[in-house]
Amino acid sequence: MMHLRDGQATATVIHREAYTAPAFWIDTVDLSFDLDPAKTRVLNRMRLRRNPDVPAQALRLDGDELNLARVLVNGQGTSFKMDASQLVLENLPEGDAPFDLEIFTTCAPAKNTKLMGLFVSNDTFFTQCEAEGFRRITYFLDRPDVMSSYSVTLRADKKAYPVLLSNGNLLAQGPLEDGRHFAQWVDPHKKPCYLFALVAGQLVCREQRVTARSGKEHLLQVYVRSGDLDKTEHAMNSLRASIAWDEARFGLSLDLERFMIVATSDFNMGAMENKGLNIFNTKFVLANSATATDTDYANIESVVGHEYFHNWTGNRITCRDWFQLSLKEGLTVFRDQEFSQDLASQALAGDEAAAKSARAVKRIEDVRLLRTVQFAEDAGPMAHPVRPDSYVEINNFYTVTIYEKGSEVVRMMQTLVAPALTASGTVGGLAHTGQEGFAKGMALYFERHDGQAVTCDDFAQAIADANPGTALALYLPQFKRWYAQAGTPRVHAVGSYDATTQRYTLTLSQSCAASPGQEHKDPFVIPVQMGLLDHTGREVLASQLLVLTEATQSFEFHDLSVPDGQAPVPSLLRDFSAPVVLEMDFSPAQLLTLLAHDSDPFNQWEAAQRLYMQAALSAVRAEGEPNQVLDAALLDALRTVLRHPNMDAAFKELVLTLPAETYIAEQLDVVDPQRIHTVREAMRAQLAQALHDDWAWAFESHRENGSYQPDPVSSGRRALSGLALHMVCLHARNTADTHWPERALKCFDNAHNMTDRFNALSALVTSGNALATPALQRFYSLFSREALVMDKWFALQASAPDRGGNVLPVVRQLMQHPDFTLKNPNRARSLIFSFCNANPGAFHRSDAAGYVFWSERVLELDAFNPQVAARLARALDRWSKLAEPYRSAAHVALTRIAAKSDLSRDVREVITRALS
Ligand SMILES: [Zn+2]
Repeated sequence: MMHLRDGQATATVIHREAYTAPAFWIDTVDLSFDLDPAKTRVLNRMRLRRNPDVPAQALRLDGDELNLARVLVNGQGTSFKMDASQLVLENLPEGDAPFDLEIFTTCAPAKNTKLMGLFVSNDTFFTQCEAEGFRRITYFLDRPDVMSSYSVTLRADKKAYPVLLSNGNLLAQGPLEDGRHFAQWVDPHKKPCYLFALVAGQLVCREQRVTARSGKEHLLQVYVRSGDLDKTEHAMNSLRASIAWDEARFGLSLDLERFMIVATSDFNMGAMENKGLNIFNTKFVLANSATATDTDYANIESVVGHEYFHNWTGNRITCRDWFQLSLKEGLTVFRDQEFSQDLASQALAGDEAAAKSARAVKRIEDVRLLRTVQFAEDAGPMAHPVRPDSYVEINNFYTVTIYEKGSEVVRMMQTLVAPALTASGTVGGLAHTGQEGFAKGMALYFERHDGQAVTCDDFAQAIADANPGTALALYLPQFKRWYAQAGTPRVHAVGSYDATTQRYTLTLSQSCAASPGQEHKDPFVIPVQMGLLDHTGREVLASQLLVLTEATQSFEFHDLSVPDGQAPVPSLLRDFSAPVVLEMDFSPAQLLTLLAHDSDPFNQWEAAQRLYMQAALSAVRAEGEPNQVLDAALLDALRTVLRHPNMDAAFKELVLTLPAETYIAEQLDVVDPQRIHTVREAMRAQLAQALHDDWAWAFESHRENGSYQPDPVSSGRRALSGLALHMVCLHARNTADTHWPERALKCFDNAHNMTDRFNALSALVTSGNALATPALQRFYSLFSREALVMDKWFALQASAPDRGGNVLPVVRQLMQHPDFTLKNPNRARSLIFSFCNANPGAFHRSDAAGYVFWSERVLELDAFNPQVAARLARALDRWSKLAEPYRSAAHVALTRIAAKSDLSRDVREVITRALS
């Protein structure tokens, strides 16, 4: 450890290089809880032994906000001392023999507003221990490399807490005196303490027995509050699909008799993979067609999958230390992305083109998130490698870099273990995704490390060792720079064609900008999937994989016969084969060819994005009112996509959606958020106007009238008709037409499902139509008892396009609404985060009122929930790129927060980095 002076307070910086193995092992843990919201008593009986590989030293146990009542060693009282929040025991038995340690503490779950450790939500007890919450339950070696066997006894009032759950298998349960009862749980698997969980309260469950391939039977349960049972079918289906998928794709089966999911409405994150007892934010469990949108259904499927897949990647093999967080998170995000892609394409089995398109739709959605959020993080003050070198507060490192970029690193490994790959770096053929080699690597990883706490290096080594001779094995040390170097690499591509020799030369150069603490970057290993089209759109070179390893490298392609000797059109980075920025001077004609003809749907979409971006950037840089930003050729091409008889609706919706304002901002050195907002709004208006008849046609012809199904085809149709309705309503605003807004109101009133209803409401709100007001009121009266639907209601109003600064007053007013509370993280996110993080046109005000509002909320939240406050604190990460007057105003707001002397460690770290 090291100490760093940051001006206001002294923060302890933890360094990866300083890792040492624990001085003690904890073999068994026997926990007894007497649950009481005001004062819960925790008896912790452990069996420990010294780690013979580490010099003898005192035992230092982590604790946080605990009241210590008793410490016994082998049943005898002992001396101890407190060092900051650690309990230190110096007089322990010498030698290797195990000894017993008993610690009795109390805590106050009802007062736990941080939602870390043991807390109460709606009269139910829940826990959240990752990363360092277990120390708020008892004194412990709160680190992931200490793995122990747990048995847990829960005691509580039977009437108030009829359901008592913990990890593993239920061993015994029964009544106690005074109306209390107990349940005893034993987890058959060793685990680190961050995977401990308990739940106690009035819950009901949907349950189902399933038989695994091995013939073993498992009990699956989804626990919710009574009244929510009709919203659990989709979560249960998703769990069953996850179990089947992991068996089929990786041969990994459920290793527990019982697997439980419990939903809580007060939760800092999405969900938590506690062994056998996953605890979920209600947002990722509850759904029925009346209350949840297609997006909610898709998110539930992927989050249920994600947490279930952790049972192997995270729980059976865990992280040695928190710097290795991406070992479990990057890998598990990769697995849940593959799961969603496989499920979407399986639903369309038999129609190869549709299945391919469904995979591409998922891929595009994932890449869009990566590029808008992670690329921005990688270029800002919080930039850090996928495996960070240091942190002050680990909670700040549950980031898109660890998760989404980490997943891309795993995906590249899969790409680079394709069997046919030769040392020269190129390989022909289309279907060589490396799935088989990657599955072999996973098998070796489990063979070597099952039951251990390991590192990212161990994982990469196993994948490479299982695939000798592949590019990954060949370049492994260099490949691992993806773990060590922060920042998004840029790949600059130049192509040239010699018509006489029929030879195409592609020169690729890579670079990566400096990031905090890393001035110089060495070249990465970058897989570039590519093909070539002639100018009529015919593919003249089928997909190839190039492996870029040097700063600059040229690749030659021979015998390319193209009509009229015109240079071929390169389709590079197909399926987004690496998380890089590709720079190439594409002409508009080349991009239109790719949009119309590329066999890779990702690059078709990408061509449209590049055309939008070229238009947006030149309009942002020009003077005066943006006018006719999109040219006729692009509009014609977009019309062709919209009207295309064979493309699927979900894909069309993605192609016809403009890049986000934040993504446009990332392409500029100096950012004027209002200018970007104005330009993008002008582009939307133009798209609405020029394609008006086509939008009207798309709306009419894609409406679904049958019963609701969340499958990819019907959800795609709803997405496209929803976008079309937005567009015709937007156009109506600019032409004072009343037909379409009235139509939208009718759709809103008569909708059979939440997706259509919310799309109609949102079309009215975002077009600023007067009918939005009665629709919002009606929506409220219909759903005011549905917390998750109310989150949508708040979020929609906070993210509406700004018109003359009208959004902030609405947000301030909504904060006074009886249904608003900052204490509930979902509600805080729905209103405050939607405004500060997702509505740049409204947030960045020239009078600085948006920033003032933001700084007030960060401080307010920090007083009771630092983890959520620190997330909000990141809204101004990119302040130094802002144009004046925004830049100075943002600096003032950041400084105002920094001046508060008692900031949490979480917020202090974020603000200090932003100002450094
Ligand atoms: Zn996870």
